[in-house]
Amino acid sequence: MEIKKTLDESQHYIMETYKRFPVIFTKGRGMKLWSIDGKEYLDFLAGVAVDVLGHCHPKAVVAIQKQAQRLIHISNFYHNEYQIKLAKLLVKHSFGDKVFFSNSGAEANEAAIKLVRKYFNDRYSGQRTEIITALNSFHGRTMACISATGQTRLQHGFDPLLPGFKHILFNDIEELKKATNERTAAVMLEPIQGEGGVRVPSEDYFKEVRRHCDQHGLILILDEVQTGIGRTGKLFAYEHFGIEPDIMTLAKGLGGGVPIGATIAREEIARAFEIGSHASTFGGNPLATATALAVVETVIEDGIMLSECKRMGAILIDSFLGLKKNFPNIIVDVRGMGLLLGMELTRECSQVVQACFERGILINCTAQNTLRFCPPLIIKEEDIERLISVLNEVLTRLS
Ligand SMILES: *Cc1c(COP(=O)(O)O)cnc(C)c1O
Repeated sequence: MEIKKTLDESQHYIMETYKRFPVIFTKGRGMKLWSIDGKEYLDFLAGVAVDVLGHCHPKAVVAIQKQAQRLIHISNFYHNEYQIKLAKLLVKHSFGDKVFFSNSGAEANEAAIKLVRKYFNDRYSGQRTEIITALNSFHGRTMACISATGQTRLQHGFDPLLPGFKHILFNDIEELKKATNERTAAVMLEPIQGEGGVRVPSEDYFKEVRRHCDQHGLILILDEVQTGIGRTGKLFAYEHFGIEPDIMTLAKGLGGGVPIGATIAREEIARAFEIGSHASTFGGNPLATATALAVVETVIEDGIMLSECKRMGAILIDSFLGLKKNFPNIIVDVRGMGLLLGMELTRECSQVVQACFERGILINCTAQNTLRFCPPLIIKEEDIERLISVLNEVLTRLS
């Protein structure tokens, strides 16, 4: 009764932008979550690829506790040592030279878009402003980001959109070549399309994209908001493809659940942002950066987290392929990298998500027909066994 009242209040007081499951979570530890009525769940969604270290990892908890006692927020009129340390760490482990901190993926992309505009405006006085992005991409929900996003479903009702974006097929280099003209400034892509159904490009795609960008003087922006911070088995997904971007955006995994976004760029491009060009009140505040520093250090220094991510991902893929063999009428495809995995079904997948939820397994559905699995990187084989046994039961009922 108490729970129903709380859920009614949620509907009454909160704008209804989310279709939520009727559950209130109050506690988490590692792979597990507990609801207010004490039911246990295994979390294969991890707050949408956010909780890379699992729930309430001691390193993150201690960092938050210590920093909360010392200093939470000061504004960017002053320096804070954690922002500097985090920037230094991200630069050391990536292609980049300089970082701008914000609070979310959309903001990180917004900064990348502004940086590209500023860079080309300074050089070509407004002659080159167009950014090419992919169909079925996802870059966030601000006006600039829905304009960049290649899904009309997310743009509907919000006209006028920001001009200057052109959408092409992902994983098709000829499309990119055709779309490029004298107004093109940049190409913005996800290394793996997460929300678009966990779409992994062919092996050479990004090498060809990189070559094309170099030939035409285009900036390559990689949106690693979902793929970054170990998710694919490397710290950044671009490392799989043998290329480097010019700008990269991060958010989801970066703070291990504390809101933070980062836009990382090569020096020459970063210089387009001068004093006053861009700002964020909360961006990179002491609490967020101290936590993110602990999270990124843990992923890097743990030693086995990235190799375990690859190993667990491989076990999951193998198990999914086993299910595909048993349920050929339901499962069409299994794909992904590391612990960002998708299982495409012949049908809409909300029924499977619901049935898993009822059995204490949290997953979600992307692109209508693809189940997405993006568990914490600390997942263990016993967690996988539990998932597969539940999926087996659910799919048996459906077939
Ligand atoms: C989630 C996501 C975003 C948006 O991040 P928010 O923090 O929700 O603004 C942008 N790009 C990609 C690839 C994402 O997965």
